[in-house]
Amino acid sequence: MVTAARPAHLFALDPDRAYPVLARADGVHVWDTAGNRYLDAIAGIAVTNIGYGRREVADAIAEQAAKLPFAVGNIFANEPAIRLARIVSEITPGDLDWVHFCTGGSEAVEIALKLARQYHVERGEPGRDHIVSRWISYHGATLGGLSVGGSVLRRRKYEPMLVANTPHVRGPYEYRCPWPETHPDCGPAAAAEVEEAIVRAGPDRVAAFIAEPVVASVGGAIQPQPDYFERVREICDRYGVLLIVDEVVTGFGRTGTNFAIEHYGVVPDILVMGKGISGGYAPLAAVAVRDHVHAVFADQHVPFEHIFTFGGNPVSSAAGLAVLDIWRRERLVENAARLGPAFAAALEPLREFPFVGDIRTIGLMAGIEFVADQATKEPFPPARRVGAMVREAGLRNGVVTYPGSGMADGTRGDIISLYPPLTFTQEHLDDLSTRLVGAFRDVAPQLRSGA
Ligand code: PLP
Repeated sequence: MVTAARPAHLFALDPDRAYPVLARADGVHVWDTAGNRYLDAIAGIAVTNIGYGRREVADAIAEQAAKLPFAVGNIFANEPAIRLARIVSEITPGDLDWVHFCTGGSEAVEIALKLARQYHVERGEPGRDHIVSRWISYHGATLGGLSVGGSVLRRRKYEPMLVANTPHVRGPYEYRCPWPETHPDCGPAAAAEVEEAIVRAGPDRVAAFIAEPVVASVGGAIQPQPDYFERVREICDRYGVLLIVDEVVTGFGRTGTNFAIEHYGVVPDILVMGKGISGGYAPLAAVAVRDHVHAVFADQHVPFEHIFTFGGNPVSSAAGLAVLDIWRRERLVENAARLGPAFAAALEPLREFPFVGDIRTIGLMAGIEFVADQATKEPFPPARRVGAMVREAGLRNGVVTYPGSGMADGTRGDIISLYPPLTFTQEHLDDLSTRLVGAFRDVAPQLRSGA
């Protein structure tokens, strides 16, 4: 039985929801203060990839906090940050060799956007002040991140305050393909929209194009056609536009490669990462840039006009070092790749439910999309809050899932996402399958009434 509290003074997000209070965690499980155990099938939220309860990470944090807890980034460097930058540059593709740290994914997106802009300013092209991005995407909660983000629902209350120069295009979405006439070979059509947006804005006005290689929480593991990013890379090169990929969710092995963009054989100019880099043990995120981007600053001896107080924090960096040590030692990327097919198989029984429209997976990342009608793919009315309904049923069945909405047409469409820890085993997958079937059975009577 889930017990939950509405805590006084803590400004929790939803004033109407009673939040289970988490007390502790170990391995792939979390416990609330009432003693209920949950299988954490979202790894925090694609964060605790190495699992909970890793003593060596806690020790590394304590040691660094005692030795040097802080160093301000515009006066000092520090050893953990220097070491971590080297490791990140080793595991990122190509010549993404220069790494700047911050404390969260939204900050990292802001840094990427500012870096792209300043790169062009320093190269003598100050007219480049547009960032092209995609609908059905998420790039963080700051006003900059929301501006390039493509969730109608998350943007709508802030719309008047968002940055104007951010034209959005449609991205690949196999289940609801925007280009049915060319489907399933719609890579060229999807990439052509990027080119059209660049040309419309003015080719000398666009600083960058930003995209998630695999769309995470607002889409539910939506994957591009195999040739999409290759085409986008070519278009960006043709117009001198930087390619930014947001790997905040997909980075550090989630999809079975170090970074998801590796599936598509291109190297972005800027790669944004967060979450799994510190496994949730400390706030940490980063931006890696290619040699040619860094060279514009280095060769002209101009500083990047930016600082966050906690960027490159030694304690967070020490956490990152300890986490990535485990991540490499235990070959967790390989585990995600190896377990991917078994993960997909564990979700197969869910297809028997008439409200399941699509199940998409890549590595240990999944989206399950709900529909009122499987034949027409008609979504449920948003007021039914189907994703949240399934999340609550999951909690009652001892499993944590993550709802998302709006992918069908901006305001309609429901999914739950799954991001199990990369330490998952077959036994965990079996348990996950049983608990999800239990949760889906719970909501089935309510959803039988369709739209
Ligand atoms: N980018 C993507 C793809 C994300 O999914 C998120 C958060 O979920 C962010 C950026 C923002 O990261 P944060 O919540 O750490 O600020």
